[in-house]
Amino acid sequence: MIPYGRQHIDNDDIQAVLEVLSSDFLTQGPLVPRFEQAIAQFCGANYAVAVNSATSALHLACLALELGPGDRLWTSAVSFVASANCGRYCASEVDFVDVEPLTGNICLKALSAKLGEAERQGTLPKVLVVVHLAGQSVDMAALGALTRPYDIRIIEDASHALGAYDGADRVGQCRHSDICVFSFHPVKPITSGEGGMAVTQNPVLAERISSLRSHGITRDVQKMPSAPDGDWYYAMTELGFNYRLTDIGAALGLSQLHKLPGFMAKRQALAANYDKALPTPWQPLAINAPAHCAYHLYVVRYPGISLSQKAEKFSALRSAGIGVNLHYIPIPNQPYYQSLGQNPAHYPGAQQYYREALTLPLFVDMTDAQQQQVLESLR
Ligand SMILES: *Cc1c(COP(=O)(O)O)cnc(C)c1O
Repeated sequence: MIPYGRQHIDNDDIQAVLEVLSSDFLTQGPLVPRFEQAIAQFCGANYAVAVNSATSALHLACLALELGPGDRLWTSAVSFVASANCGRYCASEVDFVDVEPLTGNICLKALSAKLGEAERQGTLPKVLVVVHLAGQSVDMAALGALTRPYDIRIIEDASHALGAYDGADRVGQCRHSDICVFSFHPVKPITSGEGGMAVTQNPVLAERISSLRSHGITRDVQKMPSAPDGDWYYAMTELGFNYRLTDIGAALGLSQLHKLPGFMAKRQALAANYDKALPTPWQPLAINAPAHCAYHLYVVRYPGISLSQKAEKFSALRSAGIGVNLHYIPIPNQPYYQSLGQNPAHYPGAQQYYREALTLPLFVDMTDAQQQQVLESLR
């Protein structure tokens, strides 16, 4: 089966991990801060806090923004469930904004209408999680212009978009957001095995996330409510978690980061090949600036197809050894969110996207022969 995505690991990566394995620290050593500094510098952000997954990063980002019971979190109707679940971890209500069916990204018209309605009803969200689907950044300046009149905190779920640009800004620069989150799962732009990162320009938010990722414990005397009992002392000042990234993972992530520009160039070249060769009526996702897109995924659309017709094509492609996938089932369609009162029909853009979209294999080590096989099977 040609997979829809997979990691590229070379000798430098293996060497970097081996060095950690024979060092003093497998976790809580020097590699985590080095990886954090490298990501912060890469993104043009002041702070980066490494954690064990993007899901953890989203949870801590919500907690740092003081999302809690009685609050609301909105996110895009088409994303991985983690973009919404972080709101539920904080006992908040979760609601969704419809997407543009041609890009799968949040629809700014739908957002604008929903904000107006929520203002009238007194149901405005505290946090909006914006998803850069497939590695294409949402127009964050336009989104910021819509949310600015309200007191809404913005988290970017950039799990797909490390290396992407939003106009002149690197995703992660947080010019129009409070916190931006990346994933380092093996199928994502770079990997640390499992892993994630929260980046921000705000020192208070960085400090909160950093405390919560390790039990809410501090050894910093300045942050203790009273003088330490002795040199052994540490203070747990709030309820945190163990969401730490290992040094093994950080070493791999750091080694991978050096290769990200090459990875992205390869993904863009493969995407351009697909764009030219797709058989009608398949169409690529609408990408405004291909050179700015991280192409975590290569999504195609079959305009007007029904879900059952697509299911047939999907299983035929799988039978032909093509590891097609679907990113994503709209989150309001999930039984859990329907049990909380969501109605999929309220998101027609997401349902159209769901009917029409299909993810084709795209990964750094994909060969021309593999790409031709995918196209041949699609034909
Ligand atoms: C992969 C992904 C996540 C979760 O990332 P993990 O690192 O696996 O926790 C969250 N949101 C989106 C959009 C993703 O694609």
